Amino acid sequence: MSTRKTTLGQAVLLGAGPGAEGLLSREGEMWLSRAQVVVYDRLVNPVLLEIAPITAQRIDVGKAPGHHGLAQEKINALLVENVRAGKLVVRLKGGDPLLFGRGGEEADALAKARLPFRIVPGISAGIAAGAYAGISLTDRRCASTVVFVTGHENPAKGASAVDYPALARIDTVVFYMGVGRLAEICRRLIEAGRDAKTPAVAVENATTPRQRTISATLGTLSDRAGEANLQPPAIVIIGAVAETARRRNWFERLPLFGKCVLVTRPRPESSRLATALTQFGAEVIEAPAIEIAPPPDWAHVDAVLRRIGEFDWLVLTSPNGARAVLERLWELGRDARALGGVKIAVVGAATAEVLAEGNLRADLLPEEFTTEALGRALLAEGLAGEKILLARSDLASPSLPETLAAGGAQVEEVCVYRTLRPPTLPAEAIEALRAGRADWITFTSSSTVTNFLALLGKDAPALLEPARLAAIGPVTAEALRAAGLQADAVARPHTADALAHAIVEAY
Ligand code: SAH
Repeated sequence: MSTRKTTLGQAVLLGAGPGAEGLLSREGEMWLSRAQVVVYDRLVNPVLLEIAPITAQRIDVGKAPGHHGLAQEKINALLVENVRAGKLVVRLKGGDPLLFGRGGEEADALAKARLPFRIVPGISAGIAAGAYAGISLTDRRCASTVVFVTGHENPAKGASAVDYPALARIDTVVFYMGVGRLAEICRRLIEAGRDAKTPAVAVENATTPRQRTISATLGTLSDRAGEANLQPPAIVIIGAVAETARRRNWFERLPLFGKCVLVTRPRPESSRLATALTQFGAEVIEAPAIEIAPPPDWAHVDAVLRRIGEFDWLVLTSPNGARAVLERLWELGRDARALGGVKIAVVGAATAEVLAEGNLRADLLPEEFTTEALGRALLAEGLAGEKILLARSDLASPSLPETLAAGGAQVEEVCVYRTLRPPTLPAEAIEALRAGRADWITFTSSSTVTNFLALLGKDAPALLEPARLAAIGPVTAEALRAAGLQADAVARPHTADALAHAIVEAY
């Protein structure tokens, strides 16, 4: 019998897509979420690295143009070494891992070492640039052939391996890495017989909030790109199909395209708002001004939850509160059945959604998503003698329990999570504020307002001056007013989606 050592290690050569976070495949996300080592390139969106477990080792092997990153042999050796050590290694590469990506050489190195690997394709920049600039690379009316070409050839090969006369006969020509040699590329295509009037487009930073499209002709593109200071990474598309870029450029026409919005909530709650803003084309920068932490005392929470069935109402004023109650019941070995006939009142749609994930339906949802409206709606139910459990954060205001008690209810409060102030804001958020680049700052609770201002300290007035402020509802708007600031947009209804809409409507 062979005693060959078996290992569970393998490498996944994974296409990260062209830039936009959502353009990673589900297969890619699955492997990334299990990675033990992530070896990534410069063009990979750093947000994707967060999908990997916190414990994963992240290794940057990227090269900036003109600078050498880790040499290819070293990258190959790094992959081999880690897979041999039994690790799940994700080799995360921009776009598709093979197309102009040297993923083939990495696969060869692994195959030669007899190590297992798999290849997960990605959306290549050329395909993505077409889609996001509104250019169909093929078109039955005018383009039956398309070719992907590198503008940056292997210097070791000497004479150009690109056959320009052949290229000139292909309907759509897509150049990668063409910025540095754009003038030469266009000139050689014209010399090879392509009409100088052929539409030609350069798409810089495709699919990202910094996307720019320069529309010209083969004869003028190089000058236009020079005037506009076109920078890599960019894709150049040449052919009759490129003519549609002006009228079909849906992405750069999204209502918040080119706008930078700061979101002051931590994940996962920020993600709904971030997604809505991103769908409108905004660049979203996370600047969490609060941190959600466990309550000071689980013993008290547990004691209350053990007799939760005795209450008439459970009142939840935030998604975090709802999540905390459900998760803690689970920890205690109980589940939603512990609630029995207890009615549940929630402040808004997002809190109701957390309940729905646990297959629980809210019995009461006020028409307006504010704590005041929730109080009124509960009073209307008739509270005399009712036992109410109010599960909220440590910072919640006393007005709701007062209102309920005034209505004759017996109110018991329990703190199921704490809202803390993180030590600092992320560097990216501070840089955006310093540079006056933040067009909007969104606030989704009073505590995001007070903490954000506290985190900025004495610089707050100057840093906030160029930005407009958006509040999720009247209470948050009031917190801004109390700080001497004014909400330029207020969401109605008071949801993340409506907050994004309110910003759109402000334009
Ligand atoms: N494997 C990658 C290509 C790597 S070569 C893929 O399949 O997309 C790097 C080149 O890709 C850049 O020089 C540029 O031409 C192109 N590129 C990558 N990301 C891009 C982006 N977001 N916008 C425009 N071009 C991009």
